[in-house]
Amino acid sequence: MPEEQKKSGYGKAEAQNKRGAGPIGGSSAAKGEKSVLIIGGGISGITAAVEAAETGCRVYLVEKLPYLGGQVARMNEYFPKLCPPYCGLEINFRRIRNSKWIEVIRSASVEKISGSAGKFKVSLRCEPEYVTSACTACGDCSGVCPVEVENPFNYGMTTHKAIDLPHELSHPNRYYLDDSVCRKDKCKECVSACKYQAINLDAEPYTREINVGTVLFCTGWRPYEPKNLPEYSWGKSKDILNNVMMERLGAPNGPTRGKILRQSDGEPARRIAFVQCAGSRDENHLPYCSAVCCSASLKQAMYFTEQDSENQADIYYIDLRVSGRNEDFLNRVENHERIQLIKGKVSGVSLEEGRPVIEAENILSGKKIRDIYDLVILATGIVAQVPEIPGIDLDQDGFIIKDALENGYSAGGCCFEPKDVAATVRESTGLVINVLQ
Ligand SMILES: Cc1cc2nc3c(=O)[nH]c(=O)nc-3n(C[C@H](O)[C@H](O)[C@H](O)COP(=O)(O)OP(=O)(O)OC[C@H]3O[C@@H](n4cnc5c(N)ncnc54)[C@H](O)[C@@H]3O)c2cc1C
Repeated sequence: MPEEQKKSGYGKAEAQNKRGAGPIGGSSAAKGEKSVLIIGGGISGITAAVEAAETGCRVYLVEKLPYLGGQVARMNEYFPKLCPPYCGLEINFRRIRNSKWIEVIRSASVEKISGSAGKFKVSLRCEPEYVTSACTACGDCSGVCPVEVENPFNYGMTTHKAIDLPHELSHPNRYYLDDSVCRKDKCKECVSACKYQAINLDAEPYTREINVGTVLFCTGWRPYEPKNLPEYSWGKSKDILNNVMMERLGAPNGPTRGKILRQSDGEPARRIAFVQCAGSRDENHLPYCSAVCCSASLKQAMYFTEQDSENQADIYYIDLRVSGRNEDFLNRVENHERIQLIKGKVSGVSLEEGRPVIEAENILSGKKIRDIYDLVILATGIVAQVPEIPGIDLDQDGFIIKDALENGYSAGGCCFEPKDVAATVRESTGLVINVLQ
């Protein structure tokens, strides 16, 4: 093993990915072998990876976070069937674990891509591997860690330690040290507590070069920044959340173990308002429709009202946009006696004695509405997060322009436009044809 790899700990990460005498382990494909770099380990990248690997293509799956699964890993239930997203993810994680053709490179991002179709040279920046594959996820390190910070997985609704599991079901199930908050120059408590010598506080970042034939962008999306919506009193009450936070609140591994509670005082939420198009289809914010927010709010209203027979939800919308199988889902909500669909754009959310108040006009009746709720959920849209790479042209909204993709590059999932998981999986499966060609 080269000297610089020994220092960085990269050798150990590689070893974790090797399966006997399989093809994983190097940084180039063998002569005549197909190879692909997939950037982004969400459902789009994972699907493309397992499909490509099953055709005997060598796959490098690069994820910037320490775990795979992307946004789907943070969700409670999937529309339209309302099943737990982890069922689908687990099957894919197993396929990845059992594949000799896939190497997962976590906590890494692309620095540079040069070359062209069939002979791309990719330079990756890999973050230090402070916790090695010797970690058994016993949690002793976290138990003694004195640093407690907001947990980004739960959007700051809980805290966690500087060394912790990224989340309960994370794949891989390995602790992670966040060096932006760890005081490793002064404190070595975690190292002393680890019985398996799995913590190396001297690990350093390193660069790795990979040669591949094709590059797939599957970098997905992030939620639109609700701080840009002062008319909805963002940041003024713990009971005004956005839709991705609501997913965490409903999740059994979320901050309240799935019980949907007021964040201000921990009391059960009984009335929730959903504000559709919060910053979407608005020239001042996101001019486009994010395609999934209506179905997401219908789903959230459904699982919230199912938690208790006293729970009620009001969905304020401009027009409800659901398609395909999600239309049946809309019918179920329309017939639900404790979910009200109110056609009207919410003009503002104010606070009365600390509780959120919706101000809107019912377009159908012409009546002005002023109503108090336990929680207000802003259905904020989807923003693309494509890394800046020469040759990848983006439209005015930051999505990749499909027709402008150069030979050898391809993309999937929410890189082109917002879409749901079923459409993402279909598209990513199809992408593999591009790789093989
Ligand atoms: C509130 C809400 C609820 C939803 N609920 C549902 C639902 O119930 N059912 C459904 O079908 N759809 C739902 N969706 C849509 C669903 O989230 C998307 O379809 C899905 O996340 C798309 O997957 P993706 O892989 O394209 O993106 P992501 O899930 O965003 O995954 C992208 C991955 O790429 C990584 N990445 C990003 N940039 C880089 C980089 N530069 N280098 C390396 N890695 C990078 C990210 O860390 C991430 O892991 C919902 C959306 C919202 C907003």
